[in-house]
This record gives sequence, structure tokens and C-alpha cells, in this order.
Amino acid sequence: QTIKTYTLVTKQLITTQLIQRNAFAHKGTYGHALLIAGNKGKMGAAILAAKACLRSGAGLVTINTNENYFTAVHAALPEAMCIDRSENIDHSIYKSAGIGPGIGVNDESAIVVAATLTQFTKPMVIDADALNIIAANEGWLNNVPAGSIITPHPKEFERLFGKCADDFERIEKVMALSIQYPFTIVLKGHHTMIASKGEAWFNTTGNPGMAKGGSGDVLTGMLSALLAQGYDPLQSALTGVYLHGLAADIAIKNIAQVSMLATDIIDHISDAILSLQ
Ligand code: AMP
Ligand code: MG
Repeated sequence: QTIKTYTLVTKQLITTQLIQRNAFAHKGTYGHALLIAGNKGKMGAAILAAKACLRSGAGLVTINTNENYFTAVHAALPEAMCIDRSENIDHSIYKSAGIGPGIGVNDESAIVVAATLTQFTKPMVIDADALNIIAANEGWLNNVPAGSIITPHPKEFERLFGKCADDFERIEKVMALSIQYPFTIVLKGHHTMIASKGEAWFNTTGNPGMAKGGSGDVLTGMLSALLAQGYDPLQSALTGVYLHGLAADIAIKNIAQVSMLATDIIDHISDAILSLQ
């Protein structure tokens, strides 16, 4: 029996990792993030992820979604661009990808998930319905590229890796999986666990005001932004998870936890970053 140690994700750990903006920078310096997100009735997930991505420093954000829903994106977020599902995507122009929020579990989304897993060669965040699609297709988990970050909540985790008797068993399982697979695992919850190559961290920020639809989509956008800016996957996961919770903790100073929206997390990303500088 080996004794495992876990590290807490605290302010000190993150402050040393923040990359400052360069005076001579241009938007290309901070990467173009591709978000494969949104579908009929779930465009909000794409918009939340894209807005969080821009607020977290990505130079450019493009949402890959169905053309029918472009207007919703442009009205809510003029800074974001859109590219239709039917178009051929030139993966070389994107520095990171985030896939899953609001895409739904359907054949069309499964095709884009399969194509992205096999063709996108840069770091990506895999979340939500992309994880559900991977879980539903035998062997697809083995196609998740090295250097990716997967961000399941406990239910998505269970679909991917099976049931666990309790949280302790789940933690052990995440540790083992992080050795078995070449990707970073972010198991979301009250103390989100981040695991990579047999090492694990537990986050110290966040509050139950985040227990509402959209919170996870915000995290996917934030992680995609950090990858686009050149943080490595583990750094992105630690920094993104910490800032996401911190933004929510700052938000509840003025917003009741029950009233908090995912949008309020986004609106406090800037305060979270400022508090670290
Ligand atoms: P999702 O279920 O995909 O929307 O993701 C929910 C997000 O909110 C994750 O980042 C969770 O860590 C966070 N979250 C949800 N409930 C809580 C809670 N009670 N305490 C802290 N964070 C939470
Ligand atoms: Mg989610």
C-alpha cells in the first residue's frame, strides 16, 4: 500500500503561473480558440463558453456550430466568430479547441467529435456531450489525444468509466486513469480534482452558487483560452479551475448564491485575475 499525497490548488500555486501580457502583443500572440459547441436549444452553452474564453485572454474565438444559430451568437457576443458545421475546418489556424458544450448526443455531433479527436493535433478540452458521445462509443476513449483535458462532472465520469461506490473509490480511480491515459482529468465537484500522470490536486475555490446550468460551459471556455495562450495542459487545468471558482467566490460577495448565474462567473473572471496580480 503506497501513501499518496495530494496538493491543494491555492493562490500561491497559481500566482507563479500567470503569464503577463506583452506590450508588443497582437491578437495572434494569444491564440485562436475553436469552440465546437451549441446546437438547437443549447446555443447558450456555446455563448457562455466563448465569452468566458475571451474574458480569459484568448486572442480570437470561433464557434463551430450550425449556421442556423449564428445570429444568436453575434447578437450576444459580437467579439466571437462562427463557422458552419458543413464547412471544412482548417485546424492549422487554431491553437486550441474546446468541444462538447451544448452539442447534444446525436449522429451529427458524433461525426464532429470523431473527426476532431483524430484530426486536431493541438491541445483540446473535451467536455459535456462530447464526453457522453465518447462514452457511448466503444474504443473512442483511446482516440483522445495526449495533452487533452477532459472535464467530466461525476455523472459524465460514471458514463465514461463506470460506477464507483463512493468518492474515495472515485478518487483512486481518477489517479489510476491518469496513469493509464495520456490526458489530464478534471473531475468537477465541490473540490474539483485535477489529475495527470499519477499526480493529483484538489481545488480550494468555488461555491454552491455554481450548482446551476452553464457553470461547466464557462470552465471549458476558460481552459480553451489558457491552452490558446500557450499554457501547457496541466497548468491550464490548475489555473483555469482555480480562477473559475475564484470568480464565483468574488461574485457571491454581491450576489446571493441562489441567484448566481453562469454569466456572473464570467463577469467576475477579470476580478479573479486582478486579485492574483
Ligand atoms: P457542470 O456540471 O458541467 O455545469 O459543471 C459545474 C461546475 O460548477 C464545475 O466546475 C463544478 O466544480 C462547479 N460546481 C458545481 N457545484 C459546486 C459546488 N457545490 N461547489 C463548488 N463548485 C461547484
Ligand atoms: Mg457540463
